[in-house]
Amino acid sequence: MPPRFFYLDTPDLPLPARHRFPAAKYRLLRERIAAGRLIGRAALVPSPPARLADLHRAHTEAYVASVVGGTLSPEAQRRIGLPWSPTLARRSRATVGGSLAAAREALGFGVSGQLAGGTHHAHRDFGSGYCVFNDLAIAALTLLTDGSVRRVAILDCDVHQGDGNAAILNAEPAVFVVSVHSEKNFPFRKVASDLDIALPDGADDAVFLRAVEQALDAVSAFRPDIVLYLAGADPLAADTLGRLAVSAAGLAKRDETVFGRLRATGVPVAVVAGGGYAKPIELTVEVYARTYAVAASTHGL
Ligand SMILES: [Zn+2]
Repeated sequence: MPPRFFYLDTPDLPLPARHRFPAAKYRLLRERIAAGRLIGRAALVPSPPARLADLHRAHTEAYVASVVGGTLSPEAQRRIGLPWSPTLARRSRATVGGSLAAAREALGFGVSGQLAGGTHHAHRDFGSGYCVFNDLAIAALTLLTDGSVRRVAILDCDVHQGDGNAAILNAEPAVFVVSVHSEKNFPFRKVASDLDIALPDGADDAVFLRAVEQALDAVSAFRPDIVLYLAGADPLAADTLGRLAVSAAGLAKRDETVFGRLRATGVPVAVVAGGGYAKPIELTVEVYARTYAVAASTHGL
């Protein structure tokens, strides 16, 4: 039986006119993957909402309640960068549920993913940088708590440093967090991961791919039972929030390297989308789509 991949089936986020966040990208990605049959025999199913008990593994009860109940202060919403709405609350919860479900699916089938997620700027008691709840921190902590795994690696190749992952997971020796990112980019106050590989402005395919190999070497040395792979599309040269100069072919090579090496060593992998802000947004969607296609083809789906 092939694995399931997960998508958010809630409506696009309602945002004010000219808001910078490309809310339609997740829907466009799902349409692109379905139309092109890009994940082969794998099924595409809705992300389940996370349980409150799972959200509490990485976040304070007060913060979770303010998101779920719609009482986030204007300042807290500004820091997230998205206005609160019932849809935001539902999507944020499903983003966590989808990444956790994908991680469990990967443990059974070797590979899975969510066509969203990678909300690595969410901290224990506040959201930031378009991130509300930290999906991968919660997935890692949940799998460890229920005994599904003993060691988890988070391979974060989004162009922005994963400060929330680092802040939540720093004291957890069973989780290894590595971040390959743009040095001068958001977040401007970074939190140290287990391994941070910071790249200069304008880093090209060769520089970026060397960093990814280095990150993979560190992941292999940790001998994780699962890798949660944050495959951001925002290292792309055309990204408006990126600062790097990686090509679409370079990002495809990144994905072939990551999925190929993990498959060869028998390490399950769950992939999530991460950031992507190219103009037009179709450039980002194409990079994302390729990531899931490579995940599926590497595993013979
Ligand atoms: Zn990003």
